[in-house]
Amino acid sequence: MSGDQAVPPFFWELHRGLPRQGPGDNASTGRAFRAAGPLPRRPVVVDVGCGPGVQTLELVRLLHSRIVALDNHAPFLHELTARAADLGVAEHVTPLLGDARHLPVAANTVDLLWSEGAIYIVGFERGLRTWRPALRSDGVAAVSEAAWLRAGAPDELRRFWDEGYPAMVGREDNARTAEQCGYRVLDQFTLPADAWWTDYYDPLVDRVGEARARHAVDEQAGAVLDAEELEIDMFRKYHDYYGYVFYVLKRED
Ligand code: SAM
Repeated sequence: MSGDQAVPPFFWELHRGLPRQGPGDNASTGRAFRAAGPLPRRPVVVDVGCGPGVQTLELVRLLHSRIVALDNHAPFLHELTARAADLGVAEHVTPLLGDARHLPVAANTVDLLWSEGAIYIVGFERGLRTWRPALRSDGVAAVSEAAWLRAGAPDELRRFWDEGYPAMVGREDNARTAEQCGYRVLDQFTLPADAWWTDYYDPLVDRVGEARARHAVDEQAGAVLDAEELEIDMFRKYHDYYGYVFYVLKRED
């Protein structure tokens, strides 16, 4: 998923109200949070590409502190605001409509920069380089990114990713890139396959089925549904070959 402009309206219709907009689970958020280490009493925390904010709310639960949640798709920020209100933590979430490519955040101010499944929007290396100045000198960036987990990917899988995200590299390549960008790797771990299914692909499979059953889909909607099914099918068949990896990175000067 890229910026609002490039995305067909039916994509947003299909994704509206899903628990998550990408792979993730609270256990992984918690592990990355613990790996980040102690934070100041009132930390500045920014969640970039927050979507509807499951991880934002988990961070609020862990931190009991305010989090700035940035996304460029206003309806996701409305979903997050409503969820935060339902949980009685609205005062801990500050939604911010903004662009991850040009973070509207002052230099040297952020203690913890969070981004689950969204750094690909900027590119892994570019994101780490352009977001780094926002961090305080001992600040931490915790980001998850798709990566190859082993060699020898079958041709159809290789073709799928060459088209969808040609910038995807190996898990260790990303760790090396992070070091070259001026970070120390505090932790890196691969999300379990369940983190793709429970809150993301399972509900999405239901949505795709409902959409196909509900009406004769037009060409644009049909293309969106085909693309979703192909992506899910690739993961079902080949999840040993790729995954989402969480990188917890401390800024080093
Ligand atoms: N972190 C959320 C999660 O895991 O559920 C959302 C991940 S979703 C794969 C990527 C998110 O990035 C979406 O919420 C999308 O609206 C947002 N996004 C896309 N382009 C963006 C941009 N240029 N600036 C800010 N957010 C953007």
